[in-house]
Amino acid sequence: MILENPYLELFNRQKNNQFKVGNTTYKERLKKLKALRYAVEVTYKDRIREALYKDFKKPQLEVDLTEIYPIVSEIKFVSANLKSWMKRQKVETPMALLGSSSWVTYEPKGVCLIVSPWNFPFNLTFGPLVSAIAAGNTVILKPSEMTLNSSRIMAEIVQEIFTEDEVALVEGAVETSKALLQLPFNHIFFTGSPAVGKIVMKAAAEHLTSVTLELGGKSPTIIDKTANLSHAVRKIAWGKFLNNGQICVSPDYILIDETVKEAFISEFKKQLKVFYTKSTNHSADYSRVVNNRHFDRLVNHIENAKQHNAIIEIGGVSNKTENFIEPTVISNLPEKASLLQEEIFGPILPIKTYGNLEEAVAYINSKEKPLALYIYSKRKSNINYIIKNTRAGTTAINNNVLQYSNHHLPFGGSNNSGIGKSHGFYGFEAFSNRRAVLKQHTKGATEFLFPPYTTMKQKLVDWTIKWF
Ligand code: NAD
Repeated sequence: MILENPYLELFNRQKNNQFKVGNTTYKERLKKLKALRYAVEVTYKDRIREALYKDFKKPQLEVDLTEIYPIVSEIKFVSANLKSWMKRQKVETPMALLGSSSWVTYEPKGVCLIVSPWNFPFNLTFGPLVSAIAAGNTVILKPSEMTLNSSRIMAEIVQEIFTEDEVALVEGAVETSKALLQLPFNHIFFTGSPAVGKIVMKAAAEHLTSVTLELGGKSPTIIDKTANLSHAVRKIAWGKFLNNGQICVSPDYILIDETVKEAFISEFKKQLKVFYTKSTNHSADYSRVVNNRHFDRLVNHIENAKQHNAIIEIGGVSNKTENFIEPTVISNLPEKASLLQEEIFGPILPIKTYGNLEEAVAYINSKEKPLALYIYSKRKSNINYIIKNTRAGTTAINNNVLQYSNHHLPFGGSNNSGIGKSHGFYGFEAFSNRRAVLKQHTKGATEFLFPPYTTMKQKLVDWTIKWF
C-alpha cells in the first residue's frame, strides 16, 4: 500500500469521485468538451500562439494547424459520435446459451494518468484528454517540463474548466513523473520516447495498470524509381521541416532507388527555396530546435556524419544562440553513423540508396518496427510488396504525416514504436473497459447439465459439442 506520495491525496480525491464522473451522460461529457474547445479555439487562442512562439518559435499557422485544429476537430468528431459509442453493443447469443442475451458496455477505466512530450504540447496533452473525458474518466495530466510556457497555459485552462477531483494538471519534470507512476492508476496514456516508455510500462506492471504507449523511433521513407519526384519532394520537405522535424511521424530517413537520388536532391534544393523565400534563419515559417540540449544532440549528429566522410548535400549550418539548424540533407553515411542509429527528431534528413526493393525492405526489417513507413511509388505491385513484407504502426502512400489526422484511422505504433491506439473511437476505446454482460431471462438450457451427471446428460454434452 502506498502511504507517502506527494500526489496520493489528489489521486484519492479523483478515485472517490470516479463513479460520479463515470456515470455522467453523454450530454454532460460533451458540455465539458465544448468548454475545452471554446478555451482552445477562442479565449486562449492568442496566448497559445504566444506560448509556442516563446517555447520554440513555432509559426502561428503551424500552431493553428497542428495544435489547435487537432484538438478542435477531435472534439467535433467525438461530439458527433459519443452517443452511439456509449450505447451498449448487443451481441449474438449461441444456441447453447438459449434463454439469455448478451451485450458489451464501454465503461470508464477510472483514474487515468496522461504523460505527454514537448513537441506538440497542447495537441498531445489535450488530445488524449478529449478521449479520456469522452470515456468518463478522471484524469491527472503531466505535460513536459521542456515547454513551460505551454504547460502554464494548459494549467490555467484546466483549472478554469474542471474541478481537481475531475481533471488536474501537475507541472514538473522526471521526478514528478516518477512519483505519479508509483500510484495505482487504472490506465496510463504515455506519449514519448521508447526508452521512457519502458520505464512507464515497468511502473504500470506493479499495479497491472493498462497502458497506451505512443512512442517514436526511426520512420523510413521509400522512394522507388517510378515515383513522381517533384510531388515526393514537396511532401517530404513539408513533413520533415514542419515543427523543425520534431514530430514522431516525421520522415526520419530516405531509402531511395540509386538511379533517382541525384534528381531527388536537386529537386529538394529548389523546393526549400520555394518554401523559405528568405534564408531559413530569417524565415518566420521555420521553427527552432526546442532547447540547447537538443541543439547539441543534433549538431553532434552532423559532426559525427562529417567524421564518417558523409556528404552534406544541403545545409549543415547552425547557430547555438538561436537553436537554429538549417534544413540539412546528408548522404553517403556508413551504417554506424549516429544518424542511422538513433531517432533524429530534428531538421536533418539522411539519404540512403538501394539497388532493389528487396534490399530496402530487408534494411527496414533489420530495425525496430517503425511508427510510420512512407512509400512514394506509382507502381501498385511495389506498394503492395512493401506493405506485405514490412510491419509498421501507420503508413502513408505518396504522402506523409497526414495519416495522423484522419479520426477514422487508429493512430499508434507497434512494439518498439508503441502499444495501443488513439484518436476517434480508438481513443475512446483506449480509455474504456469493454465490460461483457450476459443476462439470463429464462431458466436456460444449461441447467439441464448441472450435477448429478447422468448418462443422458453426457449424451447431451456430446450432442452440444457436435452441433453447437
Ligand atoms: P520523453 O520520453 O523524454 O518525455 C516524455 C514525458 O516523459 C515528459 O513528460 C517527461 O517529463 C517524462 N519523462 C522523461 N523521463 C522520464 C523518466 N525517466 N521517468 C518518468 N517520466 C519521464 O520524450 P520527449 O523528448 O518529450 O519527446 C520525444 C519523443 O516522443 C520521441 O521519441 C518521439 O518520437 C516521441 N513522440 C511520440 C509521439 C506519438 O504519438 N507516438 C508523439 C510525439 C512524440
